Amino acid sequence: MKRIGIMTSGGDAPGMNAAVRAVTRKAEHEGLEAYGINYGFAGLLAGDIFRIDSRTADDIINRGGTILYSARFPEFAQEPVQLKGVEQLKKFGIDAIVVIGGDGSYHGALRLNEHGFNAMGLPGTIDNDIPYTDFTIGFDSALNTAVHAMDNLRDTAASHERTFVVEVMGRNAGDIAMWAAVASAAEDVIIPEKDFDVAEVAAKLKSSRARGQKHAIIVLAEGVMTAAEFADKLKPYGDFQLRATTIGHVQRGGSPTAFDRVLASRMGSYAVELLMEGKGGLAIGIQNNKLVTHNMLDLFDAKHEPEMDVYKVAKELAF
Ligand code: ATP
Repeated sequence: MKRIGIMTSGGDAPGMNAAVRAVTRKAEHEGLEAYGINYGFAGLLAGDIFRIDSRTADDIINRGGTILYSARFPEFAQEPVQLKGVEQLKKFGIDAIVVIGGDGSYHGALRLNEHGFNAMGLPGTIDNDIPYTDFTIGFDSALNTAVHAMDNLRDTAASHERTFVVEVMGRNAGDIAMWAAVASAAEDVIIPEKDFDVAEVAAKLKSSRARGQKHAIIVLAEGVMTAAEFADKLKPYGDFQLRATTIGHVQRGGSPTAFDRVLASRMGSYAVELLMEGKGGLAIGIQNNKLVTHNMLDLFDAKHEPEMDVYKVAKELAF
């Protein structure tokens, strides 16, 4: 093996650049060449591929987003399109590939693996919704952004004795919501994995108001409903001075936390090591602070299991 391709695909996440840097520098360290593929599988098809060296990958570890850009390209599910992608890899002399992204990106990576190019998947998504890894690249950064926003909201909530319903990202997974709820001492948290009862939330707000705390933060994962919809459901239960806020895409950007930079660097280096051993079709994860691999195929049948202990703590400490 001489040349490794690297792409970011699916939604962007802070820390993707740190992974790109790690793959590039580890490849060079091992006497290999790295090739950046812009715009995910769309760029692969278009041949938007360039030699990326340690200089190009300099000064990117601290940058959010992805210098390789990202694009949605559903056409890659079709075999003739995949075969054209394979032709491009051959044209550039690329022998193996690292794909940073979510579940969809892993499907694309596995197709390349089946067509004879060893492919490694790195979990890059803020939602933390990939099975067999405790953390995904980007989750910690997004979480910290959400918590910072909630700290600010608490100041204004306290000054005006308001209740903020705060919507955070998480389409299928409540990870950002429940971790943020603990870290920001939120009064309640609503996630897709758990049923909720609006009357109970209202009762909780009433009892804390009766005890003298007249402001509150309720964290809501976007997969449940919008903050405005949830506020509308709460309204009939009392005068809580409700405000609905959606933190939105700011969670996707910003400089990655040290945790995400280290995670991405470890995973990127490990991906190159595994490719050098001739392995492919694997998804890299971290479990109990050890790097692990699982067959990508196994991931597709598995479900992300959120750490429900965090949810329990969020609920128990908020009363
Ligand atoms: P996120 O969790 O941020 O949405 P993702 O990787 O799951 O990330 P997708 O948009 O689902 O994001 O997939 C990214 C890209 O992977 C797609 O645009 C497409 O190019 C490729 N892809 C997705 N599904 C498949 C598939 N079944 N076969 C081949 N390629 C796929």
